[in-house]
Order: sequence, then structure tokens, then C-alpha cells
Amino acid sequence: MKDILKSDKLHGVCYEIRGPVMEQAARMEEEGHRILKLNIGNPAPFGFDAPDEIIQDVIHNLAHAQGYVESKGLFAARKAIMQECQTLGIPEVDIDDIYLGNGVSELIAMATQALLNTGDEVLLPMPNYPLWTAATNLTGGNPVMYRCDEGAGWLPDIDDIKAKITPRTRGIVVINPNNPTGAVYPRALLEEIVEVARQHDLVIFADEIYSKILYDDAEFTPLAKLAEDVLCLSFNGLSKSYRLAGFRSGWMTVTGAKQRAKGFIEGMEILSSMRLCGNVPGMFAVQTALGGYQSINDLVLPGGRLRQQRDLAYEMLNDIPGVSCVKPQGAIYLFPKLNLDRHRIESDERLVLDFLRREKILLVHGRGFHWDSPDHLRIVFLPREDDLSHAIGRLGHFLERYTQ
Ligand code: PLP
Repeated sequence: MKDILKSDKLHGVCYEIRGPVMEQAARMEEEGHRILKLNIGNPAPFGFDAPDEIIQDVIHNLAHAQGYVESKGLFAARKAIMQECQTLGIPEVDIDDIYLGNGVSELIAMATQALLNTGDEVLLPMPNYPLWTAATNLTGGNPVMYRCDEGAGWLPDIDDIKAKITPRTRGIVVINPNNPTGAVYPRALLEEIVEVARQHDLVIFADEIYSKILYDDAEFTPLAKLAEDVLCLSFNGLSKSYRLAGFRSGWMTVTGAKQRAKGFIEGMEILSSMRLCGNVPGMFAVQTALGGYQSINDLVLPGGRLRQQRDLAYEMLNDIPGVSCVKPQGAIYLFPKLNLDRHRIESDERLVLDFLRREKILLVHGRGFHWDSPDHLRIVFLPREDDLSHAIGRLGHFLERYTQ
């Protein structure tokens, strides 16, 4: 009998954060080992509880969340998102421009499916959160990477963006604040990106899921605010800022050149109605989250837990000989560089596996974020200070003698 194979569409579709390294970690857990996981940006298991008022509100509304709702999502939740857009200064957002989904992830897949034909190109940052590459590949489109410059605080290289545009380029993805680098982009740079999109008629995909996780003096500018005449899809949700990743509650807003995008918008509406609607209990959390006390600020301001952990991890990493790291201005990750003159490393995935086997600590290799050299790691700084300092201390010790 013939083997049952996966579809050709899945060729090149890979999500490294939950890939082979994670499988090895799962095997080790089955054998009884405790693994310290610094690989996934999932705040709840690290004691970052969601605001209680949101949980209470969802419990209270559970009985009303039994049926399907409109495919774009619960009206009250979309209204709250619309109001937030107005507060942020994003022009002309209507209730119908807002789609709720099972996390931002579902909406990313939906938007890329609705736009791209086979061979169409999407500009993606390098390094990037790998869901964007996977979603683009799944459509038959081609991800084309533009470089973010580590020497310039990981900001996108605008000349590289321009150089990568071809007649097949349909869109550009901007992840701000960035995963995995923690960079927060200045307004002037975002304006330059919008100008490139304007000139080449590109759709902007603005993944802004970390927009409220900002440190020091970092200021977040929503891309949609600068792109009045360019089609802009902005993505945000409850997974990170409200520590509710398990609720699968995210949203997408469509702004800018909507008049010229009727076909594409119709495509998104078709896909949205094909899945009937997103998770309704998660939608009941949105209004309370956006309108309630913004407790994320207590975590990121001086003395806040996330901020302290970022500082500790950043300092400890830079103290390891042969390791350097740009200080994250937002989000919950560090993307340190390993000096390849000091360590012979051919495969960063092997390094992560060796570290996992020896120290029972799980990181992600930089290539998992489509970085083009085996010289970076991504570390989630969600664990408490004692676990973080243990993990980074062990990494320093491990790297002392490590070579491939
Ligand atoms: N976009 C970025 C940049 C992320 O880092 C993540 C999750 O880590 C997502 C999207 C997915 O978020 P959601 O939980 O809303 O699907």
C-alpha cells in the first residue's frame, strides 16, 4: 500500500519554535526530566496572571457565549477595538474593518491566503517571527527577507527593502515591537516604509501584538496612523499584553486604501465566514481588557517584573565572553549573538539540542527565525529571576568549552 503523504502545499512550511528541538524536549519530559523552557512567549505558566477583572467577566459571560456570533466577531468587542483605534489616532476605522480571530495567528493565515497567488512575493524582516514565513509559504507565495541591522539596534535596512522589491512583490510585513529582537521602530523609519509601500502599491501587514510591552523611553507608533492612503492590515490581541494566550483572542483591522481593495477584502470575508467565527468566550474578554486597568504598565515600568528580568538577562548575557546582545526596547525576548571566532558553530540547532540535553534548558536557535547565520539564539525572559540567572549562568558555562 502507498504511504499517505502530506500535501505539496506544506513544502517549506515549518514552525521552528515548536519544531524538532521542542520534540526532543517533550521526549525528555516523558523520561521524567524537568525542562526549563525559555522558548515560547507564553506568559501565564511563568506566573504572569491575567487581570482578574477579565477572568471574572469571561466567567460571568460564559453562558452567553454558547452560540456562534457574526463571522467577524462580537459587536461589543469590535466596538472596543474601534474606540482604541480612535484613541491611537488611526483614521477611519469602521466596525466592519475589524475581524476577530483565534489569536493573531489565524488572522495572519487568513490575510495571506486571501491576498497571495502562487509566486507572489512578501517582504519579511530577517530575523522574523516564523509564522509569517510559514503562512506565506502555505499560500504558494514566496517570502523574501529584508535585513534588520543588528549594529543599528536591529532596525530594518530601508535600502535593502527597496532593493528586494520586484514586480511580484505584493506586501511587506513589519513586526513592531519586534519578535525576536525586541526592537521598537522610530516613527521616521515607519514613514519611510510607508513611502516604499505607497510607491510600489504594497499591502502593509503590521504585526503589533507587543505594542503595549515597551521599556525605557520606547514609543510605539501604530503603522496604520501613518498609512492613510496605503492598505494596512494591523494585528493585535490579548495573548501578550493581557497574558491571555490560551484564550485565543486576537484581531485585525483593515485601514487606508480600502476603496481600492474591495476584491481582497471580499476574499478575507469569504475566509472569515468559512470558519463561522472565532472563539466566542475569548471575545468577551476584549472589552474589559481594553477598557480596564492596563496592568501591563506595572510590569514594564522601573521596578516591574518584566523590566527587572529584561535587565538581568541582558546584563548576564553581555557578561558571557563571546556573547553580545542588543538591549530589547519592547516585547519579551532577547536575541544574543555568539562570536563565531571564539566558538566553532556550524549548526545553531545542534547547539540548542546539545544545551538542552546537557542542561535541561530549552532555547530556540536563530535560524528558526530565518536568520542567515548560525550565530544567534532567542531567549524568552519570562521566567523569574532565579530561573533566568540559572539558565543564563549555565549557558555561559556551557559555551566556555563548546565547539562543533
Ligand atoms: N505575532 C507575533 C510577532 C508573535 O510573537 C506571536 C506569538 O508569539 C503571534 C503573532 C501570535 O499571537 P496569537 O497568540 O495572537 O496567535
